[in-house]
Amino acid sequence: MRRSPRPEGLRSKDISFGPKRSRRWGFLHKKSQTLIQLLEATSTVTFVVAENAKIDIRSLQLQEIEKAVLEFGEPLYRARQIVDWLYQKRVRSFDEMTDLPRKSRNRLSQDFDFSKIDIVRVLGSRDTTRKFLFRLSDGNLIESVLIPASPALYGSRSDRRTICVSTQVGCAYGCKFCASGLEGFSRNLKPNEIVDQIIAIERENGEKIDNIVFMGMGEPLANLENLLRAIKIINAPWGLGIGARHITVSTSGLAPQIRELAEEPLQIRLAISMHGATDEVRGQIMPINRRYNVETLLSACDYYAERKKQRLTFEYILIEGVNDSDEQARLLGRRAKRLSAKVNLIPYNTVHGLPWSRPSKDRQEKFLSILRERGVAATLRREKGHDIDAACGQLRLQTKRELEAASS
Ligand code: SAH
Ligand code: SF4
Repeated sequence: MRRSPRPEGLRSKDISFGPKRSRRWGFLHKKSQTLIQLLEATSTVTFVVAENAKIDIRSLQLQEIEKAVLEFGEPLYRARQIVDWLYQKRVRSFDEMTDLPRKSRNRLSQDFDFSKIDIVRVLGSRDTTRKFLFRLSDGNLIESVLIPASPALYGSRSDRRTICVSTQVGCAYGCKFCASGLEGFSRNLKPNEIVDQIIAIERENGEKIDNIVFMGMGEPLANLENLLRAIKIINAPWGLGIGARHITVSTSGLAPQIRELAEEPLQIRLAISMHGATDEVRGQIMPINRRYNVETLLSACDYYAERKKQRLTFEYILIEGVNDSDEQARLLGRRAKRLSAKVNLIPYNTVHGLPWSRPSKDRQEKFLSILRERGVAATLRREKGHDIDAACGQLRLQTKRELEAASS
């Protein structure tokens, strides 16, 4: 049998499920439930999907689809028809691709998956930020946030209709202030699951999205291969057609991957979650700092900024009594000047069960003024969506707890 293109790293996936999930999580399809029941009996929590699991058609680039259709013995233009159905008309099954011969549709569904993500919960806030909870085809939950207008945060004059996208289920990096890491890491999202968050929200909201920030659940650079595939689809004229300068990747500071990303031709923007200007302060709240300390991180940033001829953004959450001192502001200013980086100050969003809080308005303004006095381009974000627990990972955590409470 002819093989369809299977990009590296997409052949098999580790998928983790917590014990006793099938009884509580009735929405998993039957096959998965049976597997999980088996797993529960042995209290094993991880299994690997078979090597021959099908790739989702929306994880492929146009050239890969072209290769596949040629292998099927079909004309090259068929690939263009397919991506048009996928990203312009946005159908949800091969069957809806009505200008393709029945034979082609059958062949596509034999060789490729076409999975769906379902919106299971939407929270709208007073300032119209909306938060979406999605269920993936294996039952895992992820979330995305739609922010209608966020003025000039990442470089463009006014960023409108921004989506904050997730890249992993959970997060392995365990930053002390963050809800996404609270229940550990389950798995990487596949390219189609990343792109589908945008498509599903555009469909639900009826508006075109023009700005993407990878600041949802997970560490994007720990899922670099799938992230890059997704970004290429989001950026491509045959895909979602969103300009690279309107795509921002945020990282907690994976220095080697920052260097790797610098070699990519795409002109996407990079934001660094700094949150502490010294190893002492940063290390206290971000375990990743033990692996890549501030200096290692900054030198990777130097490399990126130089190679891409780009100004980076430092994200800095202000947490009361932890990283909001005048001294941290002065040192942060020095680091930012070294890189000509912009600083985006974000008052901490409270997470249920965590002891941190945001500093007073006065302290926030003082921190900002110290940066500005030193000539650093800094902004203080009025955090949108505070009233809907918009900090990443919160809606998922809350829903999981509610489901568990309901089933116990
Ligand atoms: N893992 C990546 C991207 C996802 S987190 C990273 O860490 O950069 C996206 C941003 O949200 C990060 O800057 C992160 O520090 C911030 N964040 C996490 N929890 C937050 C909270 N409770 N309040 C405000 N910002 C938060
Ligand atoms: Fe993971 Fe980013 Fe949250 Fe840290 S801040 S736990 S890296 S999602």
